[in-house]
Amino acid sequence: MTGFIRAPRIANLEISEIVQLTEKAAVLKSQGHDIIALSTGEPDFPTPPHVIEAAHRAALAGKTRYPATLGTAELRAAIAAVNGVSPAEVIVSTGAKQVLANAMLASLADDDEVIIPAPYWTSYSDIVALAGGRPVVLPCPMTRGFKLTPEALEAAITPRTRWLMLNSPSNPSGAIYSAAEIRALAEVLARHEQVWVLSDEIYEHLSYVPFTRFRDAAPELADRTLVVNGVSKAYSMTGWRIGWGVGPAALIKAMGAVQGQITSGASSISQAAALAALTGDQSLLETRRAAMRARRDHVVAGLNAMPGVVCPEPKGAFYAFPDLSRAIAAGGFESDAAICAWLLDQAGVAIVPGRAFGLPGHARLSFAYAERDLEEGLSRIHAALDVRLGVTA
Ligand code: PMP
Repeated sequence: MTGFIRAPRIANLEISEIVQLTEKAAVLKSQGHDIIALSTGEPDFPTPPHVIEAAHRAALAGKTRYPATLGTAELRAAIAAVNGVSPAEVIVSTGAKQVLANAMLASLADDDEVIIPAPYWTSYSDIVALAGGRPVVLPCPMTRGFKLTPEALEAAITPRTRWLMLNSPSNPSGAIYSAAEIRALAEVLARHEQVWVLSDEIYEHLSYVPFTRFRDAAPELADRTLVVNGVSKAYSMTGWRIGWGVGPAALIKAMGAVQGQITSGASSISQAAALAALTGDQSLLETRRAAMRARRDHVVAGLNAMPGVVCPEPKGAFYAFPDLSRAIAAGGFESDAAICAWLLDQAGVAIVPGRAFGLPGHARLSFAYAERDLEEGLSRIHAALDVRLGVTA
């Protein structure tokens, strides 16, 4: 078996630490343990009913055949309108994840470099490696707001650099790049024409401060920018698997060639649902953002009240990314992975170690969960740390 599975492109791939942890939590739960999993990046709200109805209608109306590879004309037109581009500059894929994979498979030659500021969403480096590229991870510590500086970007660029992957709002840090910060990075990129930008804006509608789209702040780079977005997070549609890319038509066409051989395009019924989400009542975005903001405030305050924990305020998305380095040292833990494993065993709470996101010493806790689970999860972590760190009330 091992001799058979020998494609070099999967040699260094591991099952995502997030998936492993979530699965371990599920196994413990099925064995009767009382487990609170705060590990996955999925809103707990339901898909809006009008979206589900649109899918039902589409299926009954016979939209059950192979869709066009790049996406249905209606959905591409709606995405083009939202982004102020033409439909030829839009591809619809099976989740934002496939947009990323299409882009890397279409553009990278072996050992081409992709700059990934850390902390980053775990799949970025694996997708780059799967496509034969080389992830160049740049640590962006908490003291710099978890953001890439123009100096660090300049120093990392080589003749082999093909992409900079940006994610604002960020999973896992919640950092948002301001217009001025984007401009400063754009000025560096202007000097390096071989470098394209992949701007993953999937948490756009979960911003608690003003959000700037990369293309709006750096329009002069539009001919080498790919924006990634989708319905998973904003409209609670993770299972429908619809995401899209907006970029130069030639890149979109090449990504379509990849997609055509892998999936033939995204589900026609899900595309009808996504169209209803994009063109229907948008007031739910504000209601859900307000609910997430209230949870964020609660979770950040709860974490900062714990011994050895420092949690900066996430400006977007639905994750807290506290620094646990003092708790790790004071509690005699070996690493962030060790403290997270201990929290799952001792407190029955699943959170993901920072090393999975390229920034050890932290952990990611999702607050896309019901208030009572967040409350219970926080109080268990707090109590466990109090005991381990010898804090007396
Ligand atoms: N980008 C980021 C930053 C994400 O967090 C996720 C989901 N965890 C995705 C992309 C993929 O989303 P989708 O469900 O559309 O594939």
